[in-house]
This record gives sequence, structure tokens and C-alpha cells, in this order.
Amino acid sequence: MTAQIIDGKHLARRLRTRFRERVAALSMRGVVPGLAVVLVGDNPASQVYVANKVKACEESQVRSFMHRFPAACTETELLERIGELNLDPATHGILVQLPLPPQVNVRRVLESIVVDKDVDGFHLYNVGALVVGNSIFPPCTPYGVQLLLETTGIDVAGKNVVVVGASNIVGKPMALMLLQKEATVTICHAKTRDLAHHTIHADILVVAAGKPGLIKAEMVKEGAIVIDVGINRLADGRIVGDVDFEAVRERAAWITPVPGGVGPMTVTMLIENTLRSAERFAQGEAFHPAQPFWQVPAR
Ligand code: NAP
Repeated sequence: MTAQIIDGKHLARRLRTRFRERVAALSMRGVVPGLAVVLVGDNPASQVYVANKVKACEESQVRSFMHRFPAACTETELLERIGELNLDPATHGILVQLPLPPQVNVRRVLESIVVDKDVDGFHLYNVGALVVGNSIFPPCTPYGVQLLLETTGIDVAGKNVVVVGASNIVGKPMALMLLQKEATVTICHAKTRDLAHHTIHADILVVAAGKPGLIKAEMVKEGAIVIDVGINRLADGRIVGDVDFEAVRERAAWITPVPGGVGPMTVTMLIENTLRSAERFAQGEAFHPAQPFWQVPAR
């Protein structure tokens, strides 16, 4: 069996074309969707990720506002800027590019973003909403994976799903989303004993460990769907995922490539969440930006 490729680039392009219609509808109501991107320091990978996000905004006719800070900036400076952005009516989404320097408390910074503009979905409110299956802004990478899975036409309900990686930004929310879709989910991590024992039973295998070559063909069930979230730069400059692509594609039924699989979808879902936020504001559904969510009456 040679797997069919799940083409993230193609799906991302299709979705972004449709975004323009939503931007046009918003513009009829006098709203131009806007995303604020906060970048601290000069981490080369972060610069690339941010550049991709700004480009995706341009392609989708979403305004982007860059807020750059030196690596030595203080947490207070960041919190003050986020406080201003929370109140800014032109900003519908606020993204803080991670990682942040060690003097900054990441949790405090993420919690300072008002829930209605938390388009990365990392605020505890949105994390909790995901747990109960009712999130406003699903985190972008797992959200993109969910749409990629839908393109296969295979219903995840009742399937054995194994998620390799348990980070807060990919593995855990991914597992929660697929649980919500009634899959039977196993989460593996660095301390999992005998990883292959779990992966071999996966009808759907999602890998987000950041370890090139971690998943070999013999660890994959014949006919599985394999989603490779990993992005690793090898010494020779090549970008690869966590899955031994050439060998695994001979066993799997469906597989995502790296690059061109999950990556383009992550950026696309960020734009989706920003548009959703702008639509919520336009429809008066968003909480008042100055009002903490715990003071908002339940609706
Ligand atoms: P992370 O925070 O470093 O988390 C990695 C997870 O993988 C951890 O839970 C870790 O386990 C687990 N792990 C590490 N080695 C393992 C092993 N040998 N066997 C099983 N599990 C193992 O990374 P992340 O932010 O989730 O990102 C994961 C990968 O996805 C990276 O390559 C990253 O670049 C990529 N990524 C891609 C996109 C995209 O858009 N395509 C978006 C985000 C991230 P412990 O919890 O036990 O340490």
C-alpha cells in the first residue's frame, strides 16, 4: 500500500480563498479584521514563523500589527502593551510568539490576553472551554489537524487514536479535540514505555514530539492515517517531520508530508480564529474587552 498524501498546502489555499468572502462581509459592516503579533527578541525560528503569519494575513486581507520588543524587555512592558491591545478596537486577535525570554512569566503573559482576542487559544479559559468541548478559539495546530483529517472522509468516532507528544500547544489539545469527536485516545510522551506497543494499534497516529525519525514503518498499523506535526531542521539544512516518511508511506493509507502538511494549516487556522473574533465583535457576541470573563454573566 502506498499512502495518499494529505495536502495541507492545497487545503490551506482553498480555505484562504474563502476567507476573502468573510473579509468582504465584515467590510460591509465597517470592520477590518486585525491581528496583533507580539515578537520578543531575535530567535531566528520565531522570526520565520512570524513572517509566515504576517504573509498569511496579507493574503487573506487581514491587517497585521507587529509589536517588537528587545530580548531584554521586562514582563511589565509586555503586560502593558497587551493591556492596550486588549482595548484597541482595531485589534481582534493577539498573538504572542513563543518562546519568551526567561525573565518573562509565559503563563502570566498569556493570561493577560483578553479571552475574546485569544486567537491562539492558550488562555486558561479557552483551554478549559476545550475540555468541555465548547471552545471559542481552538488552538491552531490541532485545529488544522482536525480539518486535515476531515479531508480523508474517515469518521474518527470509535477509532483508536494515538497522539505522540503531550505539550500544551499541540499534544494535549489534539487529544481533547479527538476525544470530543468520540475517538478512543491514547497520549504518549517521552516517558512512555515501549512507544511502538501503542502506535501499532493506532488507526490514526498524530505525532508531535520534535524528534526526527521517531516513527518507523514497523511502528505503524497497515492502513493507518499518519499526521506528522513535527518540524525538525537537520544538520544538512533539510526540514523533516518526526515520521520516517518514505518507509511509513508504504504502510499507511494516508500521510501528511513535511513540509506542506500541518504547517500551512496552523497559520491558516490562526487567520480563521482572527476572522471569527472579528465576526464576534461585529455581531456584539464578544465580551466587553475591558471586562474580565469571570465578571461576564453566563449567556
Ligand atoms: P514540545 O513542547 O517539546 O513537546 C514535545 C512532546 O513530545 C512532549 O510531550 C515530550 O514528552 C514528547 N516527546 C519527546 N520525545 C519523545 C519520544 N522519544 N517519544 C515520545 N514522546 C516524546 O514540542 P511541541 O511544541 O509540542 O512541538 C512538537 C513538534 O511539533 C516540534 O517539532 C515542533 O516544531 C512541531 N510543531 C509544528 C507545528 C506546525 O505547525 N507544524 C506547530 C507546533 C509545533 P514529555 O512531555 O514527556 O517531555
